[in-house]
Amino acid sequence: MFACCLIVAVLAFYETVRRTAGTARLWSQYIEAVAFGFYALVFVLSIGMLLGTDRPIASAESARASLILDQVAGVFVYFGYVAMAAERANRNLVRIAETDPLTGLYNRRGLQEALRHRYVPSGDMPAGLLIADIDHFKSINDRHGHESGDLVLIAFANRMRGVLRASDIITRWGGEEFLVVLPGVTRQELAVIAESLRASVAEQPFPLRAGSLAVTVSIGIATVNLGDGDFEQATQRADAALYGAKTGGRNRVCFGPARASSQGAQARRGEEILADLHAAWQVGENASAA
Ligand code: GH3
Ligand code: MG
Ligand code: MG
Repeated sequence: MFACCLIVAVLAFYETVRRTAGTARLWSQYIEAVAFGFYALVFVLSIGMLLGTDRPIASAESARASLILDQVAGVFVYFGYVAMAAERANRNLVRIAETDPLTGLYNRRGLQEALRHRYVPSGDMPAGLLIADIDHFKSINDRHGHESGDLVLIAFANRMRGVLRASDIITRWGGEEFLVVLPGVTRQELAVIAESLRASVAEQPFPLRAGSLAVTVSIGIATVNLGDGDFEQATQRADAALYGAKTGGRNRVCFGPARASSQGAQARRGEEILADLHAAWQVGENASAA
């Protein structure tokens, strides 16, 4: 009987500590693990006493001891389950507060928290900043309905996920505006990534219920040092670049003004890369039109 109880306690212990793919570890799981581990230990000791000593198992003393041990471990088990439920509910609330419900991307608050968790505000932490705004989105809503507009937003978010890296922080910044932080990219790499995002949107129509729809996006990019509190100014630089992309005719990527004069040469190099990418794209367009 003790061996059966031991097996149950060990299985419960294993179930509490084992990692399940896709679920995050809860600290309250360790309370459960301690409780079931404690039960297992008690049964191991009982089996040891039974087999290795002459002490009587069914004594008043052992009955009292097992009652006390059971009470203590029981408190851990019940407290652990209550704490697990509370912790899960709390995590759910945090997720809801930090996620955009339509696209599943971070919202502004989620971005703030992601940056706070990943970066300490000191030192040198270069990153790229990208603000993408879907072109003429209001007319998509007007012509095809709000529901189709929502589908475009969801498909656009998925397309961003497809082009960007898992380490990039993708945020729904406003209605049809998305901000991405790309840790560790150079200005040139940023230009290439932004251009491939723009092209992936322009080249493949978006599926709607009643057919497909051509969509384009304008993108403003800027570099940022996440270590020196430059984030606000960097978003303004990317925003200025986005404005440039809109006034320049939409469906394009524009650079924000460089941060420091030492980056001027790099910026020019980035502009050249973008010009090359645009030229290649135009050639591809003309070829497919022909
Ligand atoms: P531009 O090319 O200059 O960016 O023009 P635009 O029409 O994309 O921009 P504008 O700011 O005029 O319109 C944005 C529209 O996005 C207005 C708003 O109704 C719509 N919108 C904002 N949030 C949502 C949403 O969650 N779902 C839908 N379907 N539409 C939204
Ligand atoms: Mg727009
Ligand atoms: Mg907008």
